[in-house]
Amino acid sequence: MYDLLICNGKIVDGTGRPAYTGNVAIVDGCIAAVGEVSGEAHRVLDAAGLLLAPGWVDTHSHMDGQATWDPYCSPASNHGITTLVMGNCGVGFAPCKPDAAERQRMIEVMEDVEDIPGAALAEGITWEWESFPEYLDALDRMPRAIDIGAQVPHCAVRTYVMGERGVNNEPATGDDIRQMAAIVRDGLAAGAVGFTTSRTQLHTTRNGEVMPGTYADASELLGIGKVIGETGQGIYGLVSDFSNWEEEMAWMKRLSIDNNCQVNFVLFYRTEDDWPRVLKQLQYVQDARAEGARLIPHVGARPVNILMGWEGTVNPFMFHQAYAPLAGLDPEARLQQLREPAVRQAIVSETPPHLGHDIMDKIATGFDNLYVLDDQPDYEPAREDSIEYRAQQAGVTPAEFAYDALLENNGKRMLYCPLFGYDNRNLDRQMQMLADQNAVISLADTGAHCGVLADASIPTWLLSYLVRDRTRGARIGLEQAVRMHTHDTARCMGLADRGTLEPGMKADINVIDLEHLAIDTPAVIYDLPAGGRRVFQGASGYRYTIVSGEVIMADGVPTGALPGRLIRAGQQTASAKPTSRKTNYPSEEAV
Ligand SMILES: [Zn+2]
Repeated sequence: MYDLLICNGKIVDGTGRPAYTGNVAIVDGCIAAVGEVSGEAHRVLDAAGLLLAPGWVDTHSHMDGQATWDPYCSPASNHGITTLVMGNCGVGFAPCKPDAAERQRMIEVMEDVEDIPGAALAEGITWEWESFPEYLDALDRMPRAIDIGAQVPHCAVRTYVMGERGVNNEPATGDDIRQMAAIVRDGLAAGAVGFTTSRTQLHTTRNGEVMPGTYADASELLGIGKVIGETGQGIYGLVSDFSNWEEEMAWMKRLSIDNNCQVNFVLFYRTEDDWPRVLKQLQYVQDARAEGARLIPHVGARPVNILMGWEGTVNPFMFHQAYAPLAGLDPEARLQQLREPAVRQAIVSETPPHLGHDIMDKIATGFDNLYVLDDQPDYEPAREDSIEYRAQQAGVTPAEFAYDALLENNGKRMLYCPLFGYDNRNLDRQMQMLADQNAVISLADTGAHCGVLADASIPTWLLSYLVRDRTRGARIGLEQAVRMHTHDTARCMGLADRGTLEPGMKADINVIDLEHLAIDTPAVIYDLPAGGRRVFQGASGYRYTIVSGEVIMADGVPTGALPGRLIRAGQQTASAKPTSRKTNYPSEEAV
């Protein structure tokens, strides 16, 4: 007798194998049989005409706070994500001394670096921990709908051990490094998936300082990494500017070889001038493999981007003097003001300030690379879709066009600004990175950048756009796309018990109406603790999302089932292979 039998679905099992029609039978939270399966079941779901795929595994989230209060880790569960890994980019909330100022410091780093409302974190987090293992225990105690895995964040570890010296990015002493390594060792022993650090100047705190650990030297980085070699467990993850990429890759290679560990690193590029560097880095990764190094580039499906809106963190008029009095108003009052013709006139006629800062100037004046996200959002817009072009066609200024667009949808309309990697105005380069034989799809930043980003929708968009709808270039084959975000992402995080629909695997499954799968347009909502703000983007087309054999979402509505668990790496996935070696994905030509 099966617990659940899903019948007549189009099975895309995550291995890359061609789709076939069949059934999936589930017993005790695991897949018992797949294919031509018959037998009695307590519950039967008819999946005729629907896609059956493994649950999505999200390798790059920042749910470290939200996972302590939200069992659904929304919006992850809205997009069929059944496993997410947090503690990325070196930020998190453990270890942390049981001291109000220290806790506030960790919250401020998360607020500044990842744009998660500090008030929401302060209200939502209960701080039932000091050490990292205690943090895991707290996560473990809480009922949840999806599985989560945590990584030990360098920033918290450094601040815990070194105090102000750590925060001020002073070099670590030998004793500091020994203490940090011991904390990481304890974290891994308790089930952390890995350790992460940040080496990018993009991650700054409110004082304009880069976050603790950014300038850590080789002795610190390798000293902590040694723990992974000693314990034989865990993944080393980092984000870097790669301003000196050869030097950076060299220590990463050494780290990986010396400790027999996998190193995950974030890979993106900024401009066309920067693109050759990416190709060289991908080649470096391949060459390093021959020497025994496992370096895994983590690549976004979309370019690094921000969304703009009146209620978001940024909008094109935020630096205008005429806008300043409106900035602090509550959304309702601000919208009323923005609709006043005199206010509009004052704002749109003001000469945009030149700020002398690459990103800020893009926000204030980059209308030629700014696009309106309408009700069917287009994340691969062409030049003719830019606000500058459309304004010209309409006979208005770009500022007027942008202003009026932002007022649509009751003032909720958002604009899409690809910050980096979109000079060519298509996703070909992004697709090329994703197709690299060593790269893994990542960087959704789920749960973070709440006022500017909604990339948690990427798995939904991967199927609905890159597989199904794209006409501006090659598409990704369905089987390959599913494998990329299930098998490959799971293996990449050391999780061998999930990511494919095969007997013995965890029964994490999406039942998808692929024809109608769609992302909503993003909009700001206020549902975090303390009324905290976030950009939310929903989805339609997920008929059922199943975790450990239980339906947690049906047609977008939570069922109340809470089968999710904290992943204790090295314990429940002791047989996990540390990385996946995928075959090259042939792309389907667009028709
Ligand atoms: Zn991140």
